[in-house]
Amino acid sequence: MPISESFESNLALVLPRLIESYPTPFHIYDEEGIISSHKQLADSFSSCDFRLYFAVKALPNKHILSLLHKQGSGFDCSSIPEFQLCKDVGAVGSDILFTSNNTSHVELQGALEIGADITFDDLKTFENCTQLPERVAFRLSPDSSQKTDAAMGGAINSKFGIPFKHVFDAYQKAKDRGVKKFGIHRMTYTNETDTEFAVSVARELISITKAISDKVGVEFDYINFGGGLGTPFRPTDSSLDLMMFGASVCQVMKAAFPCSTPKIILECGRFVTGPHGVLVSSVVDTYKKGKTIIGLDASMSSLMRPGIYPNAYHHISFPFMDMERTELVDVVGSLCENNDKFGIDRNLPIPSSGDIALIHDTGAHGHSMGFNYNGRLRPAELLLNRSGEVFEIRRPETYDDYVATILNQPRHLLTSTLRAVI
Ligand SMILES: *Cc1c(COP(=O)(O)O)cnc(C)c1O
Repeated sequence: MPISESFESNLALVLPRLIESYPTPFHIYDEEGIISSHKQLADSFSSCDFRLYFAVKALPNKHILSLLHKQGSGFDCSSIPEFQLCKDVGAVGSDILFTSNNTSHVELQGALEIGADITFDDLKTFENCTQLPERVAFRLSPDSSQKTDAAMGGAINSKFGIPFKHVFDAYQKAKDRGVKKFGIHRMTYTNETDTEFAVSVARELISITKAISDKVGVEFDYINFGGGLGTPFRPTDSSLDLMMFGASVCQVMKAAFPCSTPKIILECGRFVTGPHGVLVSSVVDTYKKGKTIIGLDASMSSLMRPGIYPNAYHHISFPFMDMERTELVDVVGSLCENNDKFGIDRNLPIPSSGDIALIHDTGAHGHSMGFNYNGRLRPAELLLNRSGEVFEIRRPETYDDYVATILNQPRHLLTSTLRAVI
């Protein structure tokens, strides 16, 4: 989706001077947009008890996390390094949710130590956990929902959560072990923009929670609907009606639990930061091959989505060119992989070497999914703040970073006692 008008115009004010002195490629994020998306979420759930726990994996930079924490956001983590990042910005136990799968004992222990709210993805993990947290939540598999989401696995293909038929038993077991406080989690979709569908999935989880509550005789402190709220990537995509979503979910919740209404939790990443970032890149050159190819100085190592998800569209624009006179082109990076393409069969103007291209919607799962295969170093992250100032919040990687974990001297680990004689 073309970035918001305010981000576009504020970026246009700083970009010419910025690229004179700062090397491309880099991601740049819009502080105002991030704050406003967080506020929109909070506003849409204003008629009930609600909190967002930002999915750290989407944009794990402490300057962004700190910004969100100041707005009241908690954090959804699934690893110990993610906990550490959250602690660095002043988050305490109750600000942190631990939603992992295939969870190791060490990570579970880490979550217990910081006092995070823990969601158990599997009954076995719960049963093997000897020291239980005060409150226990289970993740319900997405298997009883109406529509299959390719990314979540849907039905029997999902690796996430406890199958519906075992979930009552899970809460019974927790109750039998003396647990008094409960939550429940289910994440059914990714990048969902169909408001009615999102509401119907929420309604389903609320009624399952009610059934568990009645049958097992436990009360729920919260229902966690996961992340997955979508933002439009293509100019023709519709957007979620957030106010309608929030109001409807609150209404269903209050009807199901009129006395002690559980808190509503969301763990969105993409919805909060996704549209508020762009990858700024320079054109290396254009080429005539089977098609016309525009080559950029960024590669999929700086933005992996288009390379790994067949339908992942990221809008591309040339902010200093006439976007009306176009040709059909592919926009590519430099990795020695043919799927290193930011856009295929796009109608774009033909730029010259050095022209600036923007790849839109890189504020979530962009830099964080990056890698440095082929010696492509990960780019910087910059923040455009509300006063129009630009800050470097992560420097670009250097050669020293690339080789940082390689030992100068091989470290001797052991010598085999019996060498095979062939
Ligand atoms: C990835 C993930 C999220 C965030 O997803 P978005 O699509 O960025 O909203 C939230 N919760 C869990 C458990 C996840 O795996």
